[in-house]
Amino acid sequence: MSSAARELRFASVADVIARLDPSYPVFCVFPDVLRKRARDFVEGFPGTVLYAVKCNPHPFVLKALWEGGIRHFDTASISEIAKVNEQLPDAHCYFNHPVKGRGALEAAADVYGLKDYVVDTLSELDKVIGIAGTDITIEVRIATPKGKAVYDLSSKFGATPDEAVALLREASRRGCRTAIAFHVGSQCLDPDAYRVAMEMSADVAARAGVKLEYLDIGGGFPAIHGVDVASLQGYFDVIATTNERLGLGIPLFAEPGRALVAEGCSVLTQVHLGKGDSLYINDGIYGCLSEIRDGDFDPPVRAISKAGPVAGPLRPFRIFGPTCDSLDVLKQKFNLPESIGEGDWIEFGLMGAYSIGMQTGFNGFVTDTIVRIDGPQDGFNS
Ligand SMILES: *Cc1c(COP(=O)(O)O)cnc(C)c1O
Repeated sequence: MSSAARELRFASVADVIARLDPSYPVFCVFPDVLRKRARDFVEGFPGTVLYAVKCNPHPFVLKALWEGGIRHFDTASISEIAKVNEQLPDAHCYFNHPVKGRGALEAAADVYGLKDYVVDTLSELDKVIGIAGTDITIEVRIATPKGKAVYDLSSKFGATPDEAVALLREASRRGCRTAIAFHVGSQCLDPDAYRVAMEMSADVAARAGVKLEYLDIGGGFPAIHGVDVASLQGYFDVIATTNERLGLGIPLFAEPGRALVAEGCSVLTQVHLGKGDSLYINDGIYGCLSEIRDGDFDPPVRAISKAGPVAGPLRPFRIFGPTCDSLDVLKQKFNLPESIGEGDWIEFGLMGAYSIGMQTGFNGFVTDTIVRIDGPQDGFNS
């Protein structure tokens, strides 16, 4: 986020509109929703919950998750580690990126004292041990089969089972503690993917024959982005049952990102032009809305005017973002009140994940007004 980011507190989205009358986009954080989601996860997951910071690193979000009971954080860069450390000095960070720069490793080990590092190759193992020493836990990341996830995260990272066996033995031989990690892919729509990956991990563990500190089953738990997904509890049940059956007898870790924060934030945009069934708004795919394109997501929307929610019959509108690029358009049409026009606002729900953290700043458009809303979320039109 730009250092100019303004951090303001409000009672509702209506309060934001009344007090700011914003012609710029406003990112709304709902701490109550985030706290509840964190508590549900901490209470329901049969192990330790790490929040994947890349999903939304804003201090309001980190703080709400901490208040909801999250104490551990999956980080991938020094900037993320620094943000967590500054905001939550007692938090425990893990360096869970399989490819790390030497400078970042030095800072992680010497400045922040991190003790857990993911690797998926022998050269990364050498690099990590050379800088952080051996009084650390090496998590060997294994590649898992592509299942029913919207984003595959095993085509870029992850060792084969044979490589993982060799890496675990080598890390152990050099005096490190060891663990196994995987990521089934983001927005994973099939709880069974965790069973398959846990079975692979158990097989690797048995073949490696080393003592494991924990099994980190990664993120991937879905948010309710317009699709019917099994309840989180359904995922936890599959994971707990599999864990018992495999009898690994080691702690489980999970690294949810999206499932913890998607529901807890919205983006309030303003219509700058209405032209037929096209609406031109002030955020788009180069800003907070890129996942609507890349993840095929269908967030809920509602229209609001200065006088309150816009009522009346709905019809489909094409929505264009603010940059001069013709690609800056949302691919699906959104059902909004027929009377919507310039100066009205459109609130997009379920925008907590991969939104403010993914902005490019292209063409000078950035959503850098982030507000805290200490109250419940309003319902959406469609
Ligand atoms: C992105 C990522 C996560 C979070 O994934 P979600 O799908 O948002 O839950 C967790 N762990 C690692 C290693 C990641 O790269």
